[in-house]
Amino acid sequence: MLMNFVISYSMKKIQMVDLKGQYSKIKAEVDSSVLEVLDSTAYINGPKVHEFQKNLEDYLGVKNVIPCANGTDALQIAMMGLGLKPGDEVITADFTFAATVEVIALLQLTPVLVDVDPITFNIDIDAIKKAITPKTKAIVPVHLFGMCANMEAIMNIAEEHNLFVIEDNAQGIGSTYTYSDGRKAKAGTIGHVASTSFFPSKNLGCYGDGGAIFTNDDDLAHTIRGIVNHGMYERYHHDVVGVNSRLDSIQAAILDIKLKRLDTYNFERRKAARAYNKAFNGIDSIITPSGKSSCQGICENCDCHVFHQYTLKILNADRDALVKHLNEQGIPCGVYYPIPLHLQKAYKDSRYNEADFTVTNQLVKEVISLPMHTELDDEQIEFITSTIINFVNS
Ligand SMILES: *Cc1c(COP(=O)(O)O)cnc(C)c1O
Repeated sequence: MLMNFVISYSMKKIQMVDLKGQYSKIKAEVDSSVLEVLDSTAYINGPKVHEFQKNLEDYLGVKNVIPCANGTDALQIAMMGLGLKPGDEVITADFTFAATVEVIALLQLTPVLVDVDPITFNIDIDAIKKAITPKTKAIVPVHLFGMCANMEAIMNIAEEHNLFVIEDNAQGIGSTYTYSDGRKAKAGTIGHVASTSFFPSKNLGCYGDGGAIFTNDDDLAHTIRGIVNHGMYERYHHDVVGVNSRLDSIQAAILDIKLKRLDTYNFERRKAARAYNKAFNGIDSIITPSGKSSCQGICENCDCHVFHQYTLKILNADRDALVKHLNEQGIPCGVYYPIPLHLQKAYKDSRYNEADFTVTNQLVKEVISLPMHTELDDEQIEFITSTIINFVNS
């Protein structure tokens, strides 16, 4: 106990996400690039936006990146680009951030929420199959917490039923998916189209709002480039109803600097995850996150998991009491997500049956996400893990 006391007073304050610490290491480069944009006055659609777009295309190995204003817009615009019509059914996970289902509903498509896998937290393949009807037009897998959904199975279902796949890659940027034959692809380049978010706390975050759409389909990319710009393909000719959704040049300048470090950032996250896993090893009531079953996502060289969140399941213990205890000890933590989407007022639907959501209904009671960012040190991880272990063992 005395040890913990001593550690907690000499230690750097623990943050859920340490944006300041990360910025301080790239400050000179970021400041000079931002000042350059200010001086250029090319605030909208300036050269920095195009440079970043090109560099992100190269990094991902995807033919088209279309920057936009945020990750929620990116999802909405992807669905608009595919030409989905009111009443079309779109299947997505019950256990995700609300943005995913929000845009489906906003476009007057019909959201069909399905349960997730208890190990990976990602959309359940059998539940997708069960939810398909003649009205189903698309599936939206979310690479939750930084690990790819089972894309091979999802693409097979989509092909069989002639459905679009829209990857919500807001949490998975930089992670690599490996097919059963060993082929690899970056998250967000496998479906027909994908969206991502550059919200500051995301793995590739800017200093405001930002997002992007990815696709290998050049025709779809063309359609989408018009949609983000008021439906214009020729100046002042509005061919379709569009939106105004842009990534500004200052954010693009910052993102371009951080993109060069994305693999290092994700490596640092995996390193923290490895230290967490090691500390919790052998504690029966704590289930650590699972990557690809062979490596749990934490090996040195594989990037199947980029740990947007490091999320434990706490069994047979009072998760909410643990949250309270951690907060009292100065350890921030989060519960992502505390309420299944199918039980949210905005998304309730009489056709849902509780028996179809047993996993999500259980996860919302068990999950807790620990501090996860690029600046965590050993002392902080030791303090966090020992505090949790003492709590669950007491
Ligand atoms: C963050 C997030 C979004 C939305 O991104 P914004 O840039 O905040 O609009 C969408 N889906 C998921 C899964 C997210 O985590």
